[in-house]
Amino acid sequence: MSKIVVVGSCNIDITVECDRWVHPGETIFGNRLTVSPGGKGANQAVAAARLGADVMMVGCIGDDVYGQLVLKALKENNVDSTYVKVLPGENSGTAHITVAEDDNTIIVIKAANDLVSPSLIDEAWEDISKADMVLLQHEIPAATNAYVIEKCAAHGVPVLLNPAPVAPVPQALLDKITYLTPNEHEAATLFAGKGKADILDQNQGKVIMTLGSKGVAYAEKGQVITVPGFKVKPVDTTGAGDTFNGAFAVARANGKSMQESISFANAAAALSVQKLGAQGGMPYLHEVEEMLK
Ligand code: ATP
Repeated sequence: MSKIVVVGSCNIDITVECDRWVHPGETIFGNRLTVSPGGKGANQAVAAARLGADVMMVGCIGDDVYGQLVLKALKENNVDSTYVKVLPGENSGTAHITVAEDDNTIIVIKAANDLVSPSLIDEAWEDISKADMVLLQHEIPAATNAYVIEKCAAHGVPVLLNPAPVAPVPQALLDKITYLTPNEHEAATLFAGKGKADILDQNQGKVIMTLGSKGVAYAEKGQVITVPGFKVKPVDTTGAGDTFNGAFAVARANGKSMQESISFANAAAALSVQKLGAQGGMPYLHEVEEMLK
């Protein structure tokens, strides 16, 4: 069984559905409140665990009721939460989402996610060092991600960085990352001034660019390869990227080729967009295998 370690964010998504947008200073009645586990780190951990990997989450939560919900969701999905630290007196990370008029706004309070420190990485290092793949995103301090990347590179542990939300990554760190999985917008920001073909060509075997319903592009042996997405009717695309990343990591760690791993991850992500919620729609291994038949 492949071992995946995710170092990243754990959030609770608090979603309010309204008929229309509320104006500053105004009070309106909403229709429904949903409280569900999220955060790119925890989402990717759950995606990988549902697909059969041995998954450990490294992160921080507060000693509040939301932290308990985070732990419950990780446990229900068989994610090892030994190194999800409960920080006394802190709040857990939350995402405050309003859905109205076919659009949404999101305010994220990083809270405990902003306190994931290099010392926690040192504490969990024995487990991190045994990973077949370590997954990172941009929802914990950049200095901690840099510390993980440097340490993993020094010990030959493969690292996948999903650069979302987009923020600059120094070239010296990019050089040490095994896989970088931006969407088109993130790639354009990270590699400002370069076109898609150049980005892929100059980062062969490293940059895996997700293209929404169109699938994925990467380059190998001087060729740009597009692996098309699966044609499905999307219900909720939240968490598509997280499902893709978790699934790609599992397939690659299990020794599948780049193309096979991308197809596997495209299938998992296409299944996830057909159901509501970030973690709610994440598929199990048998569902992905069925789709690939
Ligand atoms: P997110 O919405 O989670 O932020 P993202 O912007 O990080 O996603 P996308 O490129 O939109 O990433 O999607 C990631 C992957 O999910 C795609 O490469 C594809 O495999 C799958 N996917 C996304 N949307 C669809 C869709 N409408 N139909 C089929 N597959 C999809």
